[in-house]
Amino acid sequence: MHTLLCLLIWLGWFGGACASPAAPLVSGLPGGLAGVPMTRQFSAEDFGASPQHLALSTDADGRLLVGNVDGLLRFDGETWRLFELPTRSAVRSIAVGADRRLYIGSYDTFGWMEPDGDGGLVYRDLLDAAGLRGEARRVGVVWDVLPAPSGVYFRSDHALHFLPYRGERARTWPLPAEVRGFFVDGDVLFARVEGQGFSRFVEGRFVPEPGADVFAHRGLPEVFPRRDWRLLLGVDGFYRADRNGITLIMGDGGAAFAGTGAYTAVELDDGSLVVGTHSGELFRYDSDLKLRLRMRLGSYGVQALGTDGEDGLWVATEVGLHRLSVPSPWSVIGSAQGVKGRIFDFEWFDGALWLATSRGVARLQHDAAGNDRYEAKDWVTYEANSLVATTRDLLVGHRDGLLVYRRGAARPIPLLTIDGGVYALLQSQHDPGLVFAFSEPALYLLREIDGHWVVWRQFPTDGISTWGVEESARGELWFGDTRGYPQRWRLDLDAGTLLDKAVFGRAEGLAADVAEGSNIYLLDGRVHTVVGGQGYRFDGRRFVPDAGAPFSLVDRPKELTVRETPMGAYAYTARQLWHRARRNGPWTQIHLSPDTAGGYGMLRVNADGALRISTWKGLVQYDPTEHTSVRQPLRVGIESISARRARTAPASGVAVAAEPLPSASLPVPRSGQVLDVAAGNSLNLRFSMVSMESGAQFRYRVHGVSSDWSSWNNAVLVVRPLPAGLYRVEVEGRTRAGREAEPLTLAFRVLPFWYETWWARLLGLLAVALAGTALVFALIRLRTRQYLATNRELEQRIAERTFALEDANRQLTELATEDPLTGIANRRVLETGLRREWNRCVANGQPLSALMIDVDHFKKFNDDHGHLEGDHTLRQVAELLHAHHDEERELLARYGGEEFSLLLPGVDVEQARQRAEALRATVAASPLGVTVSVGVAGFVPTRNAERDGLLRRADGALYRAKRGGRNRVEVDGD
Ligand code: GH3
Ligand code: MG
Ligand code: MG
Repeated sequence: MHTLLCLLIWLGWFGGACASPAAPLVSGLPGGLAGVPMTRQFSAEDFGASPQHLALSTDADGRLLVGNVDGLLRFDGETWRLFELPTRSAVRSIAVGADRRLYIGSYDTFGWMEPDGDGGLVYRDLLDAAGLRGEARRVGVVWDVLPAPSGVYFRSDHALHFLPYRGERARTWPLPAEVRGFFVDGDVLFARVEGQGFSRFVEGRFVPEPGADVFAHRGLPEVFPRRDWRLLLGVDGFYRADRNGITLIMGDGGAAFAGTGAYTAVELDDGSLVVGTHSGELFRYDSDLKLRLRMRLGSYGVQALGTDGEDGLWVATEVGLHRLSVPSPWSVIGSAQGVKGRIFDFEWFDGALWLATSRGVARLQHDAAGNDRYEAKDWVTYEANSLVATTRDLLVGHRDGLLVYRRGAARPIPLLTIDGGVYALLQSQHDPGLVFAFSEPALYLLREIDGHWVVWRQFPTDGISTWGVEESARGELWFGDTRGYPQRWRLDLDAGTLLDKAVFGRAEGLAADVAEGSNIYLLDGRVHTVVGGQGYRFDGRRFVPDAGAPFSLVDRPKELTVRETPMGAYAYTARQLWHRARRNGPWTQIHLSPDTAGGYGMLRVNADGALRISTWKGLVQYDPTEHTSVRQPLRVGIESISARRARTAPASGVAVAAEPLPSASLPVPRSGQVLDVAAGNSLNLRFSMVSMESGAQFRYRVHGVSSDWSSWNNAVLVVRPLPAGLYRVEVEGRTRAGREAEPLTLAFRVLPFWYETWWARLLGLLAVALAGTALVFALIRLRTRQYLATNRELEQRIAERTFALEDANRQLTELATEDPLTGIANRRVLETGLRREWNRCVANGQPLSALMIDVDHFKKFNDDHGHLEGDHTLRQVAELLHAHHDEERELLARYGGEEFSLLLPGVDVEQARQRAEALRATVAASPLGVTVSVGVAGFVPTRNAERDGLLRRADGALYRAKRGGRNRVEVDGD
């Protein structure tokens, strides 16, 4: 089991570096092994209609059109669309006119398909335009639509209708039942008339061409116009029709389809012709009518053939559709040729391709009839692993050992029998007479001695688990190892000795991590390895990091194999294939049909000049003599545009978001036009790129929103509602096979909302200005009101404060003890003093006396000298009294007005009278100009006596003094 596993892994990467000597590349593969074109098959599930097809064509944009039993099918390489006719009838014939319109022939109707502006098509009947009325409208099957420079011919069961593109009137000619095929060559019409043959149609009459009767009873599926003659495809061969007559063109192909009967044919862009037959076979002839390909698509008859602009041949059978890549240098060898098992190795030997497969050895040869004949040999019981072809011999490494097959011999000769077998063979590039044969236990050197291969030497491998071997110089072998570091063995090929073995590891610059093993490849004269996911190049002594291409190109570099061939270098892993045409040139990836690609194992340029690569499904073959002729440049287009009022608020983002609101489709703008998008609308763009190669991929970016590209695989772009402004969408397209399309740029303008327009803005501005002014005024009023209110409040508070102040002042005044005018004690002090002295005298039993002193005729004094002078005098009287009293024991007070009182504690009434007399005399003697009268009272107070009585008695005495003549003293009780 391990051996088998090892083998399978191993064979994938084992290199027979261009074992075939560089064969000169001649025109056409000498072996003629054509392979079959890469093919895609479409079934009813793909296109959602009946599997029965009647016609094939392409529209002006390169889309495939299929006349189907259910209607018209259209395919852009990615999606299928079915357009049904109103009558639900089949589309029997299709053609694009010189006016680029798409014309349709159906049953009881013919017309054209009008674009509906949303990427769809609507059928428009042309029966009225053809002037058909009543019964004449029942035209039956419309077999052919034949576009001519001036108009279109529709050929129905019983009539021929001509509709000019413009101007002239339509015409109709009845057709006799004998008319079979109809053909157009410029403005000239030809037909095959049963019994008469190949004829020219002139004004409703059929004029026999020279030699017409060759086709009097012979089917004529197609006519191909040539410069001054016509190539007629008869059911049994090619004919030349010119002014001398009609002759059968003898060639190697003429008879190829004769037995099966040609039914339809198409001319490819490279000038080659493909003929389809009723039995389901295809024949391809080059422009010299040499047969290049014969293949069978199945057992169903070929109904129609068509081409697209990308080297695609479309074949409609009764049950399906196929697209074949023709012309293409790439073709496939596999189950179609009868190949059984998985192909491990292949060599061109003795005019045939030899295959080492999981089912043994097989031989594939192109025979004279144009068939690739597969012949399985019974030479080995199990798998054949490896082949080496020399001029005379084919060496076969197989599960049980090694065989040598000499050209022309009946059977091979076993050269070696080893348990585990020979898993690989490598012919020395430096010594063609030497082949290295690898088995698990040993490396064998096979040598051709005297015209015979012998096992010359053998060396134990010491358990190396080989993963690719390269001969970097004569006798110098490099081994990759699935379990460890790479090894270099140096052999002396002349002596047949092993000189040395070296393992290169960390000390020589390689990564420490060797868990994934190491591989080996040669490129540009250098040994390369990949260890621990890193690329290295051997500099003659040690390994140095080399992360350049092709290491950097592939997804799984540890699988990397590189082959240098006369067609350039190829680098590949199981899933990726890259090519570099010349040293220092660019590497380009080769994308093969998904049906064929993958599992790349062995790559060789064989001795017949073809490059072949083994894959999981067989071999792909590159024929350098075959050229592509792609005429249609890829172009990104717009399938449809729609705008949709979005619920979401404007946001500066792009996203794919389904909005369940109705959308309105917009006209696709011509280049340079700017698309207008209403405000608040999302924009839905559906891109198209017609490519039949293998689908279309798109990516885009919206300038003004993001400068980043989207990922590929986006055929629909939904631009969320954007703010008003000008935007630009850039769209790139490519096929899945990597072919790039001409990019598309679309400018669109998002219109402003009504409130974003200039007039709305102006109005808004005015409104704002007005509102602002009003606001200012309102503020001012408010402020004024507030100011006034504050003011009032302030006034109120001031008033309150003033009142309070006055009140306080009043209280203060009341509390004051000093008379403000005279500076002596006031009456209140007198009252409290009287109470205090009264009580003290009561307690001590002492007398208390009081003097009431009043200025005489002071009213008159004021009148005579003025009130101010009166004040002054009053103050001087007070000062005088004050000077004559004992401040510590007596209390002098202003009683009020011009009256004073003097309280004398401990003084009896007699002593008081003396003091009064003294005071009166002092005043009278003073220069004040006034006199005083004094009343005296005094006694020893008692607790029950009335305190006020003392001052009242003194006052009574004063009254008597006034009455007595003034300036005198009177005592109470006298
Ligand atoms: P009599 O000799 O009877 O006391 O006469 P009179 O004018 O002094 O007495 P009367 O009671 O009729 O008038 C008192 C006058 O004293 C009236 C007033 O003009 C004056 N007087 C009272 N207080 C003051 C004061 O503070 N300043 C001044 N300039 N005059 C005062
Ligand atoms: Mg008085
Ligand atoms: Mg007086």
